[in-house]
Amino acid sequence: MRALIQNEKLKKLTILFAICSCAIIIPVAVISGIVRASSVSSEDEKPVPQETAQVTEEVKVSDADVTSKGFKIENRDGVTFIDGILIVNKTYSIPKDYDPGDLTEDTQNAFEDMRDAAAEDNIKLWVQSGYRSYERQKELYERYTAEHGREYAEAYSARPGYSEHQTGLSFDVNEAGTKFDETREGQWIEAHAHEYGFIIRFPEGKGDITGYEFEPWHLRYVGKELAEKLRQSGECLEEYLGISSEYQ
Ligand SMILES: [Zn+2]
Repeated sequence: MRALIQNEKLKKLTILFAICSCAIIIPVAVISGIVRASSVSSEDEKPVPQETAQVTEEVKVSDADVTSKGFKIENRDGVTFIDGILIVNKTYSIPKDYDPGDLTEDTQNAFEDMRDAAAEDNIKLWVQSGYRSYERQKELYERYTAEHGREYAEAYSARPGYSEHQTGLSFDVNEAGTKFDETREGQWIEAHAHEYGFIIRFPEGKGDITGYEFEPWHLRYVGKELAEKLRQSGECLEEYLGISSEYQ
C-alpha cells in the first residue's frame, strides 16, 4: 500500500515535471525558431548563389585564405571565388578546360533586359564578343602581341587562362574602342549598366589596380547588389575585395 502511494506520488511528480519542462522548452523553441527565421530572411536579402552557400559550409578557411579586406578566398577545382564571386584577373587564372560554352544564363538574361531598356531610349546594344574559349583567347592574345607589341597587348588583352571572357560572365558591348565612352551608347552604359547587375570591369584611372587600361566596353556581370555597391563606392572589384591583379 505504502509502495503504491509512493508510486502515485512519483507519477504526479513526473507529470508536474513534464508540464514544467514544456513550459520552458516550448517558449525556448519558439524563440529560437523566430531567431532562426529572422536570420534566414536577412540571408535571403543577399543573393548568394545556392552553389556558393553549400560550398561555404564544407570548405575550411584559414587566415591565409582571406583577402586584405577580410573576404574569404576559395579555390574550387582551380577556379577562384572571393566572397563567392568568381574572380579572374592577372593574379587569378582559370583552368584551360573551364568551358561554360557561352555566356551564363544570368549574364545573358541581364544583358537582354539591359538591351531592351536601352532600346526604349533609342540606344542599340549588342554583344560584340562574349564567351571565349582558352584557345580563342590564345589566338587573340598572340595576334594582338604580333600586331601591337607585347606592352600594348598586356594593357588591353589577357593572356590565355587569364581572361574574364572565358568565364561566360563578361562580354564586350558594341564596338570595343578607346572612344566608346564618348558615344551615346557608351554614356548610356556608364549611366545604367549597374541597374542590370553589370560593372565596367576596368574603369578609368584604375589601370594600376585592375591591371588593364580603361575599357568602357568590357562588362562583367556581378549581380545588382554588388554592382550598386561598387557604383556607390567608386571602387573597382580589386579595391573592393582587397586583391591584386599582377601576373605572378
Ligand atoms: Zn573584353
